Amino acid sequence: MQLGVLGGGQLARMLAMAAHPLGVRTTALDPSPDACAGAVAELIVAPYDDPEGLDRLGRVSDVVTSEFESVPAESADRLAASSVVRPNARALAVAQDRLHEKRLFTELGIDTPRFEAIGSQDDIDRMEGPGVLKTRRLGYDGKGQLVVRDESQRDGAFEQLGGVPLIWEELVPFERELSVIAVRGVDGSTAAYPLVENHHRDGILRLTHAPAPGLAAEMQALAEAYARRLLAELDYVGVLALELFQAGNRLIANEMAPRVHNSGHWTIEGSETSQFENHVRAVCGLPLGSTAQRMTCTMVNLIGGAPDVADLAAIEGAHVHLYGKAPRRGRKIGHVTVTSGEPAWRAVDELARGTADG
Ligand code: AMP
Repeated sequence: MQLGVLGGGQLARMLAMAAHPLGVRTTALDPSPDACAGAVAELIVAPYDDPEGLDRLGRVSDVVTSEFESVPAESADRLAASSVVRPNARALAVAQDRLHEKRLFTELGIDTPRFEAIGSQDDIDRMEGPGVLKTRRLGYDGKGQLVVRDESQRDGAFEQLGGVPLIWEELVPFERELSVIAVRGVDGSTAAYPLVENHHRDGILRLTHAPAPGLAAEMQALAEAYARRLLAELDYVGVLALELFQAGNRLIANEMAPRVHNSGHWTIEGSETSQFENHVRAVCGLPLGSTAQRMTCTMVNLIGGAPDVADLAAIEGAHVHLYGKAPRRGRKIGHVTVTSGEPAWRAVDELARGTADG
């Protein structure tokens, strides 16, 4: 079996590593010859919209998946014409546009912040109360966003965000940020991992606690119900991540990612079947594996730079994953999953803080 992946970053790399033991070979397409998946997968170096590169990927793959949501629609269509693409083009398209995404949440009875489509500065001036302005497309890790708390912050906001279509959301007073990762197989079977708690710094995920501490069973059930509605509605195959805000007993959907997700990296050690293996199983038409959690974990992202690997490896229960990427400000270059409790994850966190923008 041959798996094709659009994108050759760390997600493609970890997919390829999970695919190997299942006898699945991976080819990744990435514009950069240094793409880090190249160490463990065949690499096709081409832009994401290059017809020749896409056709090559389609030819060598039984099924094509993606490690990012911003796949150009024409590229997804071109691949779909000759290959099996999972998840499907509609799932990618919905996740690319915050307005479509939030409309779908609403249609499916999934709680989400109140929102409005914004097409001009006048629209912004009409909005009431504190809110968050986000570009509808191509926003990630907090980019393309503006929090509006007082009136003066509205001035020129439309231009400031590039004069592109926006969405206005109410500013949700949440207690914490959670995410749920779920998976759906070709036969329609689904499974979900425990809800996790996420901590960001400068808009980038820094820490994930799995499971989310002190979580009521009803919250897990609610998150799974949301995820299952999305998976079924989109006739989805593969792993889907749903980011949520918790406010009391409410779980409020922020956004979904039609792919494996950084807040699920802990599943490599922490679950019976990792999110990467389950994504490979799903898109390749294999039965899903158990999503049962083996032990409590905390995942620490290594951003901008990595501590000495020997220092990390010296911490018992610290599982080091370096992606083979050159350090650069704001870049995710590795993660550490800690399976031995709080003193150990705090020690890893401390080491990570010692690096450039830890
Ligand atoms: P996003 O790019 O949509 O994931 O947003 C980045 C971060 O901004 C989130 O992780 C939240 O911390 C914050 N945020 C986004 N939307 C809202 C909202 N409607 N209310 C409050 N905080 C938000």
